[in-house]
Amino acid sequence: MTLIEESRTELDRTRFFIDGEWVAPQGSELHTAIEAHTEEAFGVASLGTEADMDAAVRAARRALDEGPWGRTTAAERADVMDRFAAALSARADATSTLVTRENGMPITLSNAFNGAAPAGLLQMYAQIARQTEFESVRPSMSGATIVRREPVGVVAAITPWNYPQVLAMMKIAPALAAGCTIVLKPSPETALDTYVFADAAQEAGLPPGVLNIVLAGREAGAALVRHPLVDKVAFTGSTAAGRAIGAECGGLIRRMTLELGGKSAAIVLDDADMDTFLANLDGASFMNNGQTCTTQSRILAPRSRYAEVTDALADYCRNLVVGNPLEESTTLGPMASETHLKRVQGYIDIGKASGARLITGGGRPAGLDRGWFVEPTVFADVDNDDQLAREEVFGPVYAVMPYDSEEDAIRIANDSEYGLGGSVFTADEGRGIEVARRIRTGTIGVNYYQLDLGAPFGGMKNSGVGRELGPEALNAYLEYKSVFVSADQLG
Ligand code: NAD
Repeated sequence: MTLIEESRTELDRTRFFIDGEWVAPQGSELHTAIEAHTEEAFGVASLGTEADMDAAVRAARRALDEGPWGRTTAAERADVMDRFAAALSARADATSTLVTRENGMPITLSNAFNGAAPAGLLQMYAQIARQTEFESVRPSMSGATIVRREPVGVVAAITPWNYPQVLAMMKIAPALAAGCTIVLKPSPETALDTYVFADAAQEAGLPPGVLNIVLAGREAGAALVRHPLVDKVAFTGSTAAGRAIGAECGGLIRRMTLELGGKSAAIVLDDADMDTFLANLDGASFMNNGQTCTTQSRILAPRSRYAEVTDALADYCRNLVVGNPLEESTTLGPMASETHLKRVQGYIDIGKASGARLITGGGRPAGLDRGWFVEPTVFADVDNDDQLAREEVFGPVYAVMPYDSEEDAIRIANDSEYGLGGSVFTADEGRGIEVARRIRTGTIGVNYYQLDLGAPFGGMKNSGVGRELGPEALNAYLEYKSVFVSADQLG
């Protein structure tokens, strides 16, 4: 089917969403969306320029300073957010399918993270907005002080392609709850799905300019970061880009949240139940085809059970159902883009050239001659100093390492520039919790790894700055203001 035959609004996003309207781009660059599992073009979107970003930021500024949004109560914002959630829920199935076509995410996972989660997050932060005290009065030495929690201002939200819907909503929902306005710049690899937020926001009656969406590449993204009318940058992506954005924000004294890369470890303790370990690998490691920031690709196995762990991992990989991600039986889809496939293959070549032992995989899955597929791969005898153990592969590639003692396992797990995810497998949960306490990481699971949208999420070390999710994330979109008044205000 050609692009034109299939053209529908959701596959033709050649306009930007600015100030509540669909606006023609100021440049002429187009991006073709290519389906990850067929390599066929199926949609088209415009790429924004610095001028488009400027228009979006000015709209967001006006909506905050002049529009009704800046004067809304938390309860009023929460009501719009609930309507926004309902409008997204009505589109959930179509959105999940769209993202799966864009980036190859298995459809069952897409239903959860692109279908259900964004609406759930809006409802959660609507409730948090209703329960938050945005202003309080306390006694002071000279009288009283009104302590206000005001919106941080115009938020520049920049997102990657791996979980485009939920990662964007992890920024939009707390920003709306706080009373901020937003310019969202999604990644070109997932060019189409983010505009579903615009359709739903219009239906929900979100005032013009509160949420603006402009698809663009890095250059226009950098222009958004440094725009003088932006107050805060909320970024999810690679550590390399985060470093550049952080440096820019540092120079501008601009608030920022950085959610960056990872190279997390799964520690199999000597008493671990192998069935539990295997049953939880989908969530801990190869979720979204290994294209997950918290992917636990470093597997630390006790020397006493090393062969058992490597054999189990090889069996796990051989039993994965690799193929069309739109089919519910598929457990491993393709890589999101050709560029990314080449990057993952590059790491497999690095592994083959190192002293590591290739146990399974390492090539292209048999019978799949179209789509950006890579075989699930296990390297054993990896040294923690090897590139394969230190750098984020972002694909279905395990690096298995032996350790001698629990202390040794903790040391290896912590010997990383990153600190984002992790897991500990053990028959003794108390022992697992003790080990978890000693790992320098933002999140870690004992006998499973599953993101909790109600708890803070983010990274230590080079995995980021700040936290998203949970009620705690609201603070990242607020500024405190203290107003000194007379004791009469104490009431
Ligand atoms: P990326 O850094 O290449 O791009 C992310 C986004 O930033 C894109 O929209 C891109 O256009 C934009 N961008 C890149 N450089 C920029 C710059 N200098 N200024 C402004 N914008 C810029 O990352 P990616 O390849 O899209 O995503 C994969 C990475 O994201 C992995 O490293 C992964 O670990 C990380 N990630 C982290 C989390 C987390 O919560 N910590 C979650 C998902 C993904």
